[in-house]
Amino acid sequence: ETLSDEFSSFLDSGIYRLPGIKAVFLDPVRLLNLSYTRYSISASGYYCRTFDSLGKGRRTNIEAGDSYVPKKKKRKRRLPQDLNEQELVAEKRHQDVRPFLLKAHEALLGTTELILFLPNLVKDEKFSIDRRGLEQSFIELGRVWQAPLYEISMNIEGNSKEVQEEGLQHVDSSGRTVVPLFNNLISNNASIDVDAEFLNRTYILPSKSCFHTSDLRQIHDLIPGSSDQGFNLIVIDPPWENGSAYQKAVYPTLPNRYFLYLPIKQLAHTEGALVVLWMTNRVKLRAFVEQELFPAWGVTDIRTYYWLKIKPDGSLLSELDLIHHKPYEYLLLGYVNKEKVGPHFIRNFQDIQIFISIPGAYSRKPPLGIDHLPGPKPSRCIELFARELVAEWTSWGNEPLCFQDSRYFMER
Ligand code: SAM
Repeated sequence: ETLSDEFSSFLDSGIYRLPGIKAVFLDPVRLLNLSYTRYSISASGYYCRTFDSLGKGRRTNIEAGDSYVPKKKKRKRRLPQDLNEQELVAEKRHQDVRPFLLKAHEALLGTTELILFLPNLVKDEKFSIDRRGLEQSFIELGRVWQAPLYEISMNIEGNSKEVQEEGLQHVDSSGRTVVPLFNNLISNNASIDVDAEFLNRTYILPSKSCFHTSDLRQIHDLIPGSSDQGFNLIVIDPPWENGSAYQKAVYPTLPNRYFLYLPIKQLAHTEGALVVLWMTNRVKLRAFVEQELFPAWGVTDIRTYYWLKIKPDGSLLSELDLIHHKPYEYLLLGYVNKEKVGPHFIRNFQDIQIFISIPGAYSRKPPLGIDHLPGPKPSRCIELFARELVAEWTSWGNEPLCFQDSRYFMER
């Protein structure tokens, strides 16, 4: 049987544009793999703990870590008259977006070639990888007094000028570059992936990727020296506090007011930046972002996008109409220095409003495959509170190497 053009292009790009609606299906593993030359992300590593190995979409509750995995207990179906004020606002929003989400899901179910292919996305063709040994807790290590002494050694020539000047960088006996891990901007300037060693574990650094492992207090180190060196895309997935009793975070969270101090204006490129903010479904959060956070950051022209989560069999991750547990999350997009952004960029972006994907383990957000960014090319992109690296991006957070552990990779 011949493949449609859309499907063939999906196999390369990881993005499938659904017909007749502003929605795309994304394959995070394909999208992430665009960052790598020598290694590739293992699908079973990406989805581990989320689905059973057969990829039939049965949810497993092996660990309490995944914040969106509901507890076993059966939740009572609530009637509209039982809802409090906040819940009514949330319900109204849900009813507004519901037909749109259903239409996108229907469009997906209509793409037979893609639906039949979905189970293949969550497993590896070659072999299952070795996941022995404990993962490193960067968050814990960054907090101890010895943190400044921890070093990472990379299979590359020294390239961090500042560090060199301070005499912090040296080359070890096997010719690897050794630099302090914490509070340091580290980059792989090579055009291939390189491996790095830290406390006896191996991490894969994609080409031209850059990362800074630090607490929020050190984020100012990322502000570019000259004003035209700012970022054109700023993706932020903050550790929002979660009011829901059903959810238990796997990382520390921060009260909302802390995010007011993120230096978004200073990080943004003078010729304009697109800001993407991941949200939770809490109604109060939306009000905070619209009334306080975005004004403080200088973000305007806000639009809402949705991430609809499905299982490998194509069905929705959970029922659409449960009050406290939705099979979707949403993001807000807006611009900084919007007056510098040409109207065609803004129009292009309105093209897509729903992203559909199979969610990975550990509540990972899918990469969005965003193009059409304002400002000069190549675009400069940064992710704040990142847990992974991307080729040509800067990643900042207290554990940006989290998913770079070699356990999540296979050799090509
Ligand atoms: N987008 C990521 C993903 O898909 O994997 C998830 C980001 S998660 C919502 C928030 C991240 O912020 C976690 O890695 C958490 O450890 C980190 N974080 C929490 N408090 C922080 C702080 N004070 N400074 C820096 N990072 C912090």
